Amino acid sequence: GIAALALTACGRADSGATGGGTGTGGFPQDSLIGVALPQKTSENWVLAEQLFNDGLKEAGFKSDVQFANGGVSEQQNQISAMVTKGAKVIVVGAIDGSQLGTQLAQAKSAGATVIAYDRLVKNTDAVDYYVAYDNFKVGELQGQALLDGMKAKKAEGPYNIELFAGSPDDANAKVFFDGAMSVLKPKIEDGTLKVVSGQKTFEQAVTQGWKAENAQKRMDTLLAANYTSAKLDGVLSPNDTLARAILTSVKSAGKALPVVTGQDSEVESVKSIMAGEQYSTINKDTRNLVKQAIEMVKKLQAGEEVEVNDKESYDNGVKVVPAYLLPPVIVTKENAKEAYANDPTLSKLTQ
Ligand code: BGC
Repeated sequence: GIAALALTACGRADSGATGGGTGTGGFPQDSLIGVALPQKTSENWVLAEQLFNDGLKEAGFKSDVQFANGGVSEQQNQISAMVTKGAKVIVVGAIDGSQLGTQLAQAKSAGATVIAYDRLVKNTDAVDYYVAYDNFKVGELQGQALLDGMKAKKAEGPYNIELFAGSPDDANAKVFFDGAMSVLKPKIEDGTLKVVSGQKTFEQAVTQGWKAENAQKRMDTLLAANYTSAKLDGVLSPNDTLARAILTSVKSAGKALPVVTGQDSEVESVKSIMAGEQYSTINKDTRNLVKQAIEMVKKLQAGEEVEVNDKESYDNGVKVVPAYLLPPVIVTKENAKEAYANDPTLSKLTQ
């Protein structure tokens, strides 16, 4: 693909069209590309590290891919170091979407382009593009799966449910929750669903740091306080790591397993789905997301227009960030085989 890009490099389209506001004219093929990843809170991030290293190298770039397991200040330092080393593009999966303004402003004034990867960067104009799976859609699919799963077990409501959200510093967490609530809220209002604990807001449902132990503890508490006699029918879980923690809690309380949603198609959760425990997950193939991010980098390198397909959904508080959104896919035991047909690791689990 590199040769083809070089040939078309002068055919650049109208530079203002995407609203990216980046410099134009491209940069040398062997430039440094920085990739700042968050903490290893789910398998998708671990996969992304390898895929960015391999994909950027294959495209002829130098890469600097970093995790920030120590937290926000480590990530801030990593981004500053990438700027100092002269990175032409900085791809960021933010730990805390609101804490990178200063470092990304540095990146911009050094002439780098900033791409928010998977998670939006908030409250700064120093972000040019966003590439992610459609987060609101993820939430909608989770909400619908929760309803479908409970209906399959018991045709008529009311159903007793509890709600979990992700980490509040991750800009995605609220979007996932809002997407799910767009489906669930009308059903709560008409009495089909009953949140027995009464904890219905995002703030009440959050799981700090996307940590399994935090979700497990909250589920323990919810069960002890609300389900000594009531039966728990379903739990909205924003991802697979938390879904398994919730199931662990229910098991240790000796209760019947509720319908639990998830996200990420993690190996252990796909196994759990095939075994009839976790109900659903979401397939957001990391290979395609990294590929799309690298596609953006290649366009920038060639000085061509970066392709986006959504110019209105992601307002970060300061600007609407032009985005390329990929479609998430809901997966249950029923469609797992076809959903993972192209995934060498996961397809083995669905035979
Ligand atoms: C990602 C999810 C992931 C979560 C925790 C989110 O920003 O979009 O796929 O489950 O982070 O790592």
